[in-house]
Amino acid sequence: MNAASPGTKSLDLSGQKALVTGANSGIGRGVAIALAEAGAAVVVNYVSGDDAAAEVVDQITRSGGRAYTHRADVSSEPQVLVMFRRMVKEFGTIDILVNNAGLQRDAAFENMTLDQWNFVIGVNLTGQFLCAREAVREFKRRGVVKEVSCSAGKIICLSSVHEVIPWAGHVNYAASKGGINMMMRSIAQEVAPDRIRVNSIAPGAIRTPINTAAWKTPEAYAALMKLVPYKRIGEPDDVGRAAVWLASDHADYITGATIFVDGGMTLYPGFTENG
Ligand code: NAD
Repeated sequence: MNAASPGTKSLDLSGQKALVTGANSGIGRGVAIALAEAGAAVVVNYVSGDDAAAEVVDQITRSGGRAYTHRADVSSEPQVLVMFRRMVKEFGTIDILVNNAGLQRDAAFENMTLDQWNFVIGVNLTGQFLCAREAVREFKRRGVVKEVSCSAGKIICLSSVHEVIPWAGHVNYAASKGGINMMMRSIAQEVAPDRIRVNSIAPGAIRTPINTAAWKTPEAYAALMKLVPYKRIGEPDDVGRAAVWLASDHADYITGATIFVDGGMTLYPGFTENG
């Protein structure tokens, strides 16, 4: 065990400053609350839905945490720059970036418009690039502060099982998630000597507004369960706990990895009874 090892201490992020993009809904909301419960101060980014964003900050501050909302479109370079500048001004720095903002614009491939393609790639992939770049710049400027963390900074990219499972009717989305995999691993390789860790969480089916149609009715839920060996839908908390651990010094030797939080969706469930 090295000198900086967290040993068996609990997952403690106190003193750390986190930015979670798309944090007023679903997984981002769950991750923001989980990071705050672990002691991090949190910037709750969102693009629309002022009330929902304020509610996340309320929940964090009522539990004794520190947070503020910041409206910004992650696919806009000027808006991302302003968001990071404000964070450094208000919180002093950034220790944890959770690149979560994402969306779908589905269409049969032959009908997919260039706008649908560009919109999804712009938010899901370019948005993660812009935020990761600003985070790396600040991590490198500041370096390791060993009282805070053994690492100079952590980036967690929200990918999807669709970084490996092809998805008909969602070519733009699957391409964005496949792109996140190579972007995440290439950044991880480049910045590891600076003690910056970059990893992904790839969820399966998590109960959020992005996929309501897949779990809302009993029929839809039953059909979904055919794809989930663990036989339950995931909750935003399932991702929140993984994010806290990955951001903590307990995961200090982990970089360039994708953690699937999917109840086994990537285990080829179609083969369960076909050995
Ligand atoms: P959601 O629709 O509940 O939340 C998406 C969030 O992204 C919202 O807060 C929204 O405001 C934000 N957002 C959208 N465009 C933005 C922009 N341009 N700038 C800033 N914020 C923006 O969806 P979710 O299910 O919580 O998804 C979160 C992430 O998890 C996405 O990257 C999604 O692809 C991924 N994911 C979700 C599932 C699932 O089953 N829910 C599975 C795999 C991956």
